[in-house]
Amino acid sequence: MAAEIRTFPCLSDNFGYLIHDGATNATASIDAPEAGPIIAALDREGWTLTDILITHHHGDHVGGVAELKQKYGCRVVAPHDKSTKIAHADLRVANGDVVKVGSLLARVLETPGHTLDHISYVFDGEKALFAADTLFSIGCGRVFEGSYPMMWDSLLKLRALPDDFRLYCGHEYTASNVKFALTVEPDNAALQARAEEVKRLRADNKPTIPSLLGEEKKANVFLRADDPAVAIKLHMKGATAVDVFRELRERKNKS
Ligand SMILES: [Zn+2]
Repeated sequence: MAAEIRTFPCLSDNFGYLIHDGATNATASIDAPEAGPIIAALDREGWTLTDILITHHHGDHVGGVAELKQKYGCRVVAPHDKSTKIAHADLRVANGDVVKVGSLLARVLETPGHTLDHISYVFDGEKALFAADTLFSIGCGRVFEGSYPMMWDSLLKLRALPDDFRLYCGHEYTASNVKFALTVEPDNAALQARAEEVKRLRADNKPTIPSLLGEEKKANVFLRADDPAVAIKLHMKGATAVDVFRELRERKNKS
Protein backbone atom coordinates (compact mmCIF):
# COMPACT_ATOMS: atom_id res chain seq x y z
CA MET A 1 0.00 0.00 0.00
CA ALA A 2 1.47 3.35 -1.01
CA ALA A 3 2.03 6.08 1.54
CA GLU A 4 -0.35 9.00 1.57
CA ILE A 5 1.01 12.53 2.00
CA ARG A 6 -1.10 15.52 3.03
CA THR A 7 -0.01 19.15 2.65
CA PHE A 8 -1.68 22.03 4.49
CA PRO A 9 -0.79 25.55 5.63
CA CYS A 10 0.47 26.38 9.13
CA LEU A 11 1.29 29.77 10.71
CA SER A 12 1.67 32.52 8.08
CA ASP A 13 3.61 30.67 5.38
CA ASN A 14 4.83 27.33 6.78
CA PHE A 15 3.75 23.98 5.37
CA GLY A 16 2.36 21.20 7.52
CA TYR A 17 2.93 17.68 6.22
CA LEU A 18 1.54 14.32 7.25
CA ILE A 19 2.80 11.05 5.81
CA HIS A 20 0.60 8.02 6.48
CA ASP A 21 1.45 4.35 6.15
CA GLY A 22 -1.76 2.50 5.29
CA ALA A 23 -0.15 -0.87 6.05
CA THR A 24 0.41 -0.09 9.75
CA ASN A 25 -1.66 3.08 10.28
CA ALA A 26 1.47 4.93 11.40
CA THR A 27 1.38 8.67 10.68
CA ALA A 28 4.25 11.12 10.94
CA SER A 29 4.15 14.89 10.93
CA ILE A 30 7.20 16.43 9.31
CA ASP A 31 8.00 19.25 11.74
CA ALA A 32 5.27 20.79 13.88
CA PRO A 33 4.87 24.52 13.20
CA GLU A 34 1.70 24.64 15.33
CA ALA A 35 -0.55 21.95 16.77
CA GLY A 36 -4.00 23.18 15.63
CA PRO A 37 -3.81 22.64 11.85
CA ILE A 38 -1.98 19.33 12.36
CA ILE A 39 -4.67 18.02 14.71
CA ALA A 40 -7.35 19.22 12.27
CA ALA A 41 -5.66 17.41 9.38
CA LEU A 42 -5.36 14.21 11.45
CA ASP A 43 -9.06 14.44 12.41
CA ARG A 44 -10.09 14.96 8.78
CA GLU A 45 -8.34 11.74 7.81
CA GLY A 46 -9.11 9.73 10.94
CA TRP A 47 -5.40 9.23 11.54
CA THR A 48 -3.48 9.12 14.83
CA LEU A 49 -0.09 10.76 15.10
CA THR A 50 2.68 8.25 15.88
CA ASP A 51 5.80 10.27 15.05
CA ILE A 52 7.09 13.81 14.60
CA LEU A 53 10.18 14.12 12.44
CA ILE A 54 11.89 17.42 13.20
CA THR A 55 14.28 19.05 10.74
CA HIS A 56 15.75 21.89 12.81
CA HIS A 57 15.30 23.89 15.99
CA HIS A 58 13.58 27.04 14.69
CA GLY A 59 10.38 27.92 16.54
CA ASP A 60 8.22 27.79 13.42
CA HIS A 61 9.18 24.11 13.01
CA VAL A 62 8.88 22.90 16.61
CA GLY A 63 6.20 25.17 18.11
CA GLY A 64 3.54 22.43 18.14
CA VAL A 65 5.69 19.57 19.48
CA ALA A 66 4.80 19.78 23.18
CA GLU A 67 1.04 19.87 22.61
CA LEU A 68 1.09 17.08 20.02
CA LYS A 69 3.28 14.86 22.17
CA GLN A 70 0.99 15.34 25.13
CA LYS A 71 -2.13 14.61 23.08
CA TYR A 72 -0.89 11.57 21.13
CA GLY A 73 2.08 10.28 23.10
CA CYS A 74 3.93 10.21 19.79
CA ARG A 75 7.65 9.68 19.33
CA VAL A 76 9.69 12.80 18.60
CA VAL A 77 12.67 12.37 16.28
CA ALA A 78 15.15 15.25 16.19
CA PRO A 79 18.57 16.04 14.79
CA HIS A 80 21.57 15.01 16.79
CA ASP A 81 22.69 18.33 18.20
CA LYS A 82 25.00 18.86 21.13
CA SER A 83 23.23 22.07 22.07
CA THR A 84 19.97 20.10 22.53
CA LYS A 85 17.88 23.11 21.60
CA ILE A 86 14.96 20.83 20.72
CA ALA A 87 12.93 19.70 23.74
CA HIS A 88 10.91 16.47 24.04
CA ALA A 89 13.15 14.47 21.66
CA ASP A 90 12.92 10.68 22.08
CA LEU A 91 15.34 9.77 19.33
CA ARG A 92 18.31 11.74 18.02
CA VAL A 93 19.41 11.02 14.48
CA ALA A 94 22.44 11.79 12.35
CA ASN A 95 23.53 11.44 8.73
CA GLY A 96 22.69 8.05 7.25
CA ASP A 97 20.36 6.96 10.03
CA VAL A 98 17.09 5.41 8.91
CA VAL A 99 13.88 6.28 10.78
CA LYS A 100 10.89 3.95 10.57
CA VAL A 101 7.38 5.35 10.31
CA GLY A 102 5.44 2.11 10.48
CA SER A 103 6.78 0.26 7.47
CA LEU A 104 8.00 3.43 5.74
CA LEU A 105 11.70 4.24 5.85
CA ALA A 106 13.09 7.77 6.08
CA ARG A 107 16.78 8.26 5.45
CA VAL A 108 18.42 11.14 7.30
CA LEU A 109 20.64 13.55 5.38
CA GLU A 110 22.50 16.20 7.34
CA THR A 111 21.98 19.45 5.42
CA PRO A 112 23.46 22.20 7.63
CA GLY A 113 23.80 25.87 6.68
CA HIS A 114 20.40 27.43 7.44
CA THR A 115 21.04 26.10 10.96
CA LEU A 116 23.86 23.86 12.12
CA ASP A 117 21.44 21.12 13.17
CA HIS A 118 19.35 21.04 9.96
CA ILE A 119 18.53 17.59 8.58
CA SER A 120 16.37 16.47 5.66
CA TYR A 121 14.30 13.28 5.49
CA VAL A 122 14.36 11.17 2.33
CA PHE A 123 11.63 8.56 1.84
CA ASP A 124 13.28 6.62 -0.98
CA GLY A 125 10.34 4.21 -1.34
CA GLU A 126 7.93 7.11 -1.76
CA LYS A 127 10.37 9.25 -3.81
CA ALA A 128 9.73 12.08 -1.38
CA LEU A 129 12.23 14.60 -0.01
CA PHE A 130 11.34 16.73 3.01
CA ALA A 131 13.97 19.46 2.86
CA ALA A 132 12.39 22.06 5.20
CA ASP A 133 14.46 25.27 5.10
CA THR A 134 17.46 23.98 3.15
CA LEU A 135 15.91 23.78 -0.33
CA PHE A 136 12.79 25.68 -1.36
CA SER A 137 11.07 25.53 -4.70
CA ILE A 138 13.09 27.95 -6.90
CA GLY A 139 15.06 29.06 -3.84
CA CYS A 140 16.95 27.98 -0.77
CA GLY A 141 17.04 28.86 2.90
CA ARG A 142 18.93 31.77 4.36
CA VAL A 143 22.36 30.93 5.74
CA PHE A 144 21.89 31.80 9.42
CA GLU A 145 24.19 29.57 11.46
CA GLY A 146 26.41 27.83 8.95
CA SER A 147 28.73 29.05 6.20
CA TYR A 148 28.17 29.43 2.47
CA PRO A 149 30.43 26.47 1.60
CA MET A 150 28.47 24.36 4.12
CA MET A 151 25.10 25.35 2.63
CA TRP A 152 26.27 24.80 -0.94
CA ASP A 153 27.50 21.34 0.05
CA SER A 154 24.06 20.60 1.54
CA LEU A 155 22.34 21.67 -1.68
CA LEU A 156 24.65 19.39 -3.65
CA LYS A 157 23.56 16.46 -1.46
CA LEU A 158 19.92 17.17 -2.31
CA ARG A 159 20.67 17.76 -5.99
CA ALA A 160 22.19 14.27 -6.13
CA LEU A 161 18.77 12.71 -5.49
CA PRO A 162 16.86 11.38 -8.54
CA ASP A 163 14.85 13.67 -10.82
CA ASP A 164 11.55 11.89 -10.12
CA PHE A 165 11.65 12.65 -6.37
CA ARG A 166 9.16 15.20 -5.08
CA LEU A 167 10.34 18.16 -3.05
CA TYR A 168 8.35 19.09 0.06
CA CYS A 169 9.85 22.23 1.58
CA GLY A 170 9.23 24.24 4.73
CA HIS A 171 7.59 27.40 3.40
CA GLU A 172 5.33 28.73 0.66
CA TYR A 173 7.95 31.11 -0.70
CA THR A 174 7.76 30.02 -4.33
CA ALA A 175 6.20 33.14 -5.84
CA SER A 176 8.78 35.41 -4.21
CA ASN A 177 11.57 33.02 -5.22
CA VAL A 178 10.37 33.01 -8.84
CA LYS A 179 10.31 36.81 -8.89
CA PHE A 180 13.92 36.94 -7.75
CA ALA A 181 15.11 34.09 -9.99
CA LEU A 182 13.71 35.84 -13.08
CA THR A 183 15.97 38.84 -12.34
CA VAL A 184 18.98 36.49 -12.69
CA GLU A 185 17.72 34.22 -15.47
CA PRO A 186 14.95 35.95 -17.42
CA ASP A 187 15.52 33.60 -20.39
CA ASN A 188 15.41 30.27 -18.51
CA ALA A 189 12.54 28.38 -20.18
CA ALA A 190 12.06 25.96 -17.26
CA LEU A 191 11.85 28.91 -14.88
CA GLN A 192 9.36 30.71 -17.12
CA ALA A 193 7.20 27.59 -17.20
CA ARG A 194 7.36 27.29 -13.43
CA ALA A 195 6.46 31.00 -13.10
CA GLU A 196 3.27 30.41 -15.10
CA GLU A 197 2.41 27.32 -13.08
CA VAL A 198 2.96 29.15 -9.77
CA LYS A 199 0.80 32.06 -10.91
CA ARG A 200 -2.02 29.62 -11.74
CA LEU A 201 -1.72 27.69 -8.47
CA ARG A 202 -1.62 30.78 -6.28
CA ALA A 203 -4.58 32.32 -8.12
CA ASP A 204 -6.53 29.16 -7.16
CA ASN A 205 -5.17 29.40 -3.60
CA LYS A 206 -3.39 26.06 -4.05
CA PRO A 207 0.06 25.18 -2.69
CA THR A 208 2.98 25.24 -5.14
CA ILE A 209 4.36 22.14 -3.41
CA PRO A 210 5.36 19.43 -4.12
CA SER A 211 7.56 20.10 -7.11
CA LEU A 212 9.67 17.60 -9.02
CA LEU A 213 13.36 17.61 -8.18
CA GLY A 214 14.21 17.22 -11.87
CA GLU A 215 12.33 20.46 -12.60
CA GLU A 216 14.05 22.21 -9.69
CA LYS A 217 17.44 21.22 -11.11
CA LYS A 218 16.52 23.07 -14.32
CA ALA A 219 14.61 26.05 -12.92
CA ASN A 220 16.18 26.73 -9.50
CA VAL A 221 19.29 28.86 -9.99
CA PHE A 222 20.52 28.11 -6.45
CA LEU A 223 21.03 24.48 -7.53
CA ARG A 224 23.17 25.60 -10.48
CA ALA A 225 25.74 27.87 -8.84
CA ASP A 226 28.41 25.64 -10.44
CA ASP A 227 27.04 26.25 -13.96
CA PRO A 228 29.45 28.60 -15.78
CA ALA A 229 26.46 30.21 -17.53
CA VAL A 230 25.09 31.36 -14.16
CA ALA A 231 28.44 32.89 -13.19
CA ILE A 232 28.41 34.82 -16.48
CA LYS A 233 24.88 36.13 -15.79
CA LEU A 234 26.23 37.54 -12.51
CA HIS A 235 29.32 39.00 -14.25
CA MET A 236 31.44 36.54 -12.25
CA LYS A 237 32.97 34.52 -15.09
CA GLY A 238 35.35 31.89 -13.70
CA ALA A 239 34.23 32.34 -10.07
CA THR A 240 33.91 29.29 -7.81
CA ALA A 241 30.53 27.70 -7.22
CA VAL A 242 30.59 28.83 -3.58
CA ASP A 243 31.27 32.45 -4.57
CA VAL A 244 28.46 32.37 -7.11
CA PHE A 245 26.14 30.77 -4.55
CA ARG A 246 27.03 33.42 -1.96
CA GLU A 247 26.34 36.22 -4.47
CA LEU A 248 22.95 34.70 -5.37
CA ARG A 249 21.92 34.27 -1.74
CA GLU A 250 23.07 37.77 -0.74
CA ARG A 251 21.21 39.33 -3.69
CA LYS A 252 18.10 37.43 -2.62
CA ASN A 253 18.52 38.70 0.96
CA LYS A 254 18.43 42.26 -0.37
CA SER A 255 15.60 41.68 -2.85
ZN1 LIG B 1 14.21 27.69 9.76
